[in-house]
Amino acid sequence: MDKMRIVVALGGNALGKNLPEQYLAVKETAKAIADLIECGHEVIITHGNGPQVGMIDSAMSLFAREDSLQSKTPLSMCVAMSQAYIGYDMQNSLRRELRGRSITTPVSTVLTQVRVDKSDKAFLNPSKPIGKYMSKEEADFASDNYGHIFVKDSLKGYRRVVPSPKPQEIIELAVIRSLVEDENVVVCCGGGGIPVYANGEHLRGVSAVIDKDYASALLAKELDADMFIILTAVEKVALNYKKENEQLLDKMSTEEAFEYLKQGHFSVGSMYEKVDACAQFVSSKKGRVALITELHKAKDGLLGLTGTRIE
Ligand code: ADP
Ligand code: MG
Repeated sequence: MDKMRIVVALGGNALGKNLPEQYLAVKETAKAIADLIECGHEVIITHGNGPQVGMIDSAMSLFAREDSLQSKTPLSMCVAMSQAYIGYDMQNSLRRELRGRSITTPVSTVLTQVRVDKSDKAFLNPSKPIGKYMSKEEADFASDNYGHIFVKDSLKGYRRVVPSPKPQEIIELAVIRSLVEDENVVVCCGGGGIPVYANGEHLRGVSAVIDKDYASALLAKELDADMFIILTAVEKVALNYKKENEQLLDKMSTEEAFEYLKQGHFSVGSMYEKVDACAQFVSSKKGRVALITELHKAKDGLLGLTGTRIE
């Protein structure tokens, strides 16, 4: 197989939902990624941060509530914190896994800002749930004091929702590119990137969380990657998901993907964005391929043995 440049986007199951889970999950994730690197490919890693950014946001809110001298930490700062500690864990674990296979490629993390558009419609309709479910009292406090917006689940309680605007520009792209060209494995665009507006020369943090699948597809396009792989919790994408007539897909063309998206086969907030991001990447230039599969099947997927390929 020729050497390919591959952007790999890691989902929630690659990181776990808390620190003990993350410790174990990241070790397994490092193996899956090392398998790809061992095949001789250039790999760029991105990841989600739903549980992690929610955890930091909740912790910082509690902190501000307990100590009146502390102000509430902006969400963009919480995203930056999540990129840092996930990146630290990933680069450390992957480094160890690679060294165990006598591969000396350096691994590093780039804190990544991603510009969003002020007029993005997502700001009018906060839809991305983050963090834990709260009591009415906790939710009222955060809404009165910080202007947070909540959705109510009749059983589980209140959960904060934030806007999820589309990524427009990866600010640290040039740095990422030169690290990649210098044969480094790079972890970047964590949690979809730290959302910022451009205000002249100043980049101002925004209270939002960018979808990691869209940010990763943009990165893959900008780096002129050959392949975009989304590693998630399912081995294949399905039509009529979880229905009697469910059909697992081995491959789809971009035309089919856009048609299935329209027909509503994929849940918004999970599979919709993945298929859409893959189809956009693949249709952006001839020869580009995308793959959606389960984390532990990464290598098999790369070899064409499983997963759903978008070509
Ligand atoms: P990640 O954390 O990897 O981004 P998500 O939970 O956001 O994962 O998205 C993956 C999930 O999408 C799967 O675990 C599955 O439950 C769900 N899903 C929704 N629609 C489909 C579909 N049509 N085919 C396969 N999985 C689907
Ligand atoms: Mg997701």
